Amino acid sequence: MEPDGTPTSIEERLRRLEAAARPLEPDAGARDRLHDAIRRLAERYLARIANDAESPAAGTPDVLGAYVQAADPAAGLLERPIAERGAALDDVVALLEREVLEPGGHPASPGHLAYLSGGGLYHAALGAYLGAVTNKYPGIFFTGPGPVRMEDRLVRWTADLVGFPDTAAGYIASGGSLANFTAVVTARDARGLRGSDLASTVAYTTSQAHHCIDKALRLAGLAEVELRRIPTDAGHRMRPAALAEAIAEDRAGGRVPWLVVATAGTTDVGAVDPLRGIADVAEREGCWLHVDAAYGGYFLLTEQGRERMAGIERADSAVLDPHKSLFLPWGAGILVVRDGALLADAHGGSGPYLQDAENARAVVSPADLSPELTKPFRALAMWLPLVLLGTRPFAAALEEKLLLARYFRRRVAELGFEVGPPPDLSVATFRLAPSDVNPAEADAMNRRIVDALRRDGRIFLSSTVLDGRFTIRMAALPHRTHRRHVDLALHLLGEEMATERG
Ligand SMILES: *Cc1c(COP(=O)(O)O)cnc(C)c1O
Repeated sequence: MEPDGTPTSIEERLRRLEAAARPLEPDAGARDRLHDAIRRLAERYLARIANDAESPAAGTPDVLGAYVQAADPAAGLLERPIAERGAALDDVVALLEREVLEPGGHPASPGHLAYLSGGGLYHAALGAYLGAVTNKYPGIFFTGPGPVRMEDRLVRWTADLVGFPDTAAGYIASGGSLANFTAVVTARDARGLRGSDLASTVAYTTSQAHHCIDKALRLAGLAEVELRRIPTDAGHRMRPAALAEAIAEDRAGGRVPWLVVATAGTTDVGAVDPLRGIADVAEREGCWLHVDAAYGGYFLLTEQGRERMAGIERADSAVLDPHKSLFLPWGAGILVVRDGALLADAHGGSGPYLQDAENARAVVSPADLSPELTKPFRALAMWLPLVLLGTRPFAAALEEKLLLARYFRRRVAELGFEVGPPPDLSVATFRLAPSDVNPAEADAMNRRIVDALRRDGRIFLSSTVLDGRFTIRMAALPHRTHRRHVDLALHLLGEEMATERG
């Protein structure tokens, strides 16, 4: 309605709405201003966390100190409403810096030796940016031939690294959890498991398997399937002989062995299960062999990794996380399946709205091979760095991390810590276990050491429980982590040990 009471024409309403929606389409100048502000924010952040000063003490980032010390981290975000009117760019940048970039851990920083963090490779971030700005469609070949062929190349490259034949297929998921889930669904359908079979069906893994395996079984409707934990050796690796015994026992008891999940690089200690021995058993028993190499996978680019993971080529499926051992930003886990037809059988589907794509179907699309239809253009974040840089710097960085873990283990033992088994990959475990201190007090001591390092904030080490004892982990994985950062960790541990031991 106009002020004089006459109805507003459709044409006039369209004109006004277009003007009101105009902020959604910034012009080139506005884009420059936005881009500059975000780029400067990213540069300030990188200068702080990834300071490459030679002297760690002078320039090492505060990876966790502020978080540990803050009472209610990131609470400022809760006070910022999603309102009808937008906020000023400077205010929003300040809010982001204070409430998002500052609190919590800094997984891209070289001192982040906790959990398993790859580091947010810059080239990959730019790939993600370009994918998002262009919004090219990665789900189906008909409208997204470039993204689909790119994903196909990366899956093929990964399948080649694993040693799978030409029949292999796969896809880029959001991470290891979803990729492992997709593998379990594929193994379920490949063996035709049904409701009435479930209670007598058995899957096998170890106590060291990632919890997403258990979760994948539940999500796949297989909560009734028994997940047996096979005993491990001193290095926390599955014992193939114990696997064979468990399977024989189950067969004798009328149960049906179905799936073996081996881990190539456990989350806690980086242990690689003996894949050849396990493949022998799985093959003989007709079990689907899945290898969860979410952390360890791309160490296949190194000689040590290939030796440790020999036998992975005999798996039926494998998961490798580029957001761990290829240093990508969060959001990439690859599943490869030896017989790609089984992946397609488990994940096919369509609808009438896709009939144009059906008619133009030349290439199998990720949507035919995975639970997802529309997804981010993940391939570009992986392809850009690999093609721009080549694989050599990745192999060198991974070999460096393997060596850093061995170096750290030797040096921390020299300081007087009790060390875990020699690392298969880039995680070393250790604890203070003085002979004159009882186990409960030793646990408390190690907890105090971890807490003290967190308060200092320059190095972030995480802890776990191994064989019932509080244990500290040093995981060298971010690409920016080098010897000086590990030396700083050793220096701080030496100081804390002196404090503990008086
Ligand atoms: C990290 C990890 C996972 C889970 O992967 P996300 O990418 O975090 O979902 C699964 N298995 C292993 C061995 C892992 O280290």
